Amino acid sequence: MALHAELHRHLGGSVVPRILWRYFHRQGSPLAERFPTYPEFEDFYTRPRNTLEDYLELHTLVEHVQTLETLPYFIYRLLRGAYVFEDLAYLEIRYTPYLRTDPSLDEADRLKQMRQVIETVGQASQQQEYPIVTSQILCLHSRLPSHINRAMLEAAVESDYVCAIDLAGGDKPYRERMEEWIELYKYALARGLKTTAHLYETLDGCHPELLPYVSRIGHGIQIPLHYPELLPELARRGQCLEVCPTTYLKTGTLPSLDPLKIVFDRCFEAGVDIAICTDNAGLHNVRLPFEYENLLTHDIINFEQLKLCQEAAFRHAFAWPYKDRPASLLSELQQGVAAASLVALEA
Ligand SMILES: [Zn+2]
Repeated sequence: MALHAELHRHLGGSVVPRILWRYFHRQGSPLAERFPTYPEFEDFYTRPRNTLEDYLELHTLVEHVQTLETLPYFIYRLLRGAYVFEDLAYLEIRYTPYLRTDPSLDEADRLKQMRQVIETVGQASQQQEYPIVTSQILCLHSRLPSHINRAMLEAAVESDYVCAIDLAGGDKPYRERMEEWIELYKYALARGLKTTAHLYETLDGCHPELLPYVSRIGHGIQIPLHYPELLPELARRGQCLEVCPTTYLKTGTLPSLDPLKIVFDRCFEAGVDIAICTDNAGLHNVRLPFEYENLLTHDIINFEQLKLCQEAAFRHAFAWPYKDRPASLLSELQQGVAAASLVALEA
């Protein structure tokens, strides 16, 4: 039985390198010529970058191949891997649907196609072979013009497949458009959407003005590290941090995992929940259970704290439809089996 909830995974970064490399070769893509053997592609794709900007460049490589036609191919493989290797029971997939539309179309047609993309991702996620409860988070993009972000927000409001919006695309340009983001977030909340945003991931993304409008905080690690005075506010609002350990090594945000010990300790102390997530499991080649294991191995958290984070992930999930996490079902089954064998013994 699948057991875990993943709250922060980008569709672009979810493709594991082997699936992507095979895809390039099956399609006869120019990248197949550049990387004739798999190990050199894996090295290129997963190696750490110096900055968040360089790292985000890699997303564009995948965005180009994730089209209306190919999305079911990639979603099927994403869910298969998540079910078989990660024991996921719940997955929120996030992406910018406008960037999956055909760039040769004019803008009005791209905006129309964007809604088809949302529908296609939604339908492809409903397959029964590898059952995982899924929902979509649409990423407003810091480098896309205002009217396109507004159109994405409207599409999010109108689709049953979407539970929330996010703000992504690099945190440097946030500041100059802060009023606009706040307005969009207020509107999203008023229309019943949940909200998260890539905030306080790096020192460039520290914007307290947006904090009151997010249900969860994408990363947020700079808060316990550099602005711990904000933690009581977060606890009061019931906001959860989506902490993605491997990302900080791949983007050069942290020199090692060690500073995360401060992040977890200060959050536990202040009563702020943390959900451990992967961000870009494919791009990192690190799946969710290995994120857990890495944190344990490096003594960042202990097993008891891991359990609290795993429970928090279900509690803060935007579209998990049940009261309990699936592990509680197993406990009930186990108790049922124990009671049944007792009856059998007594008979
Ligand atoms: Zn992210």
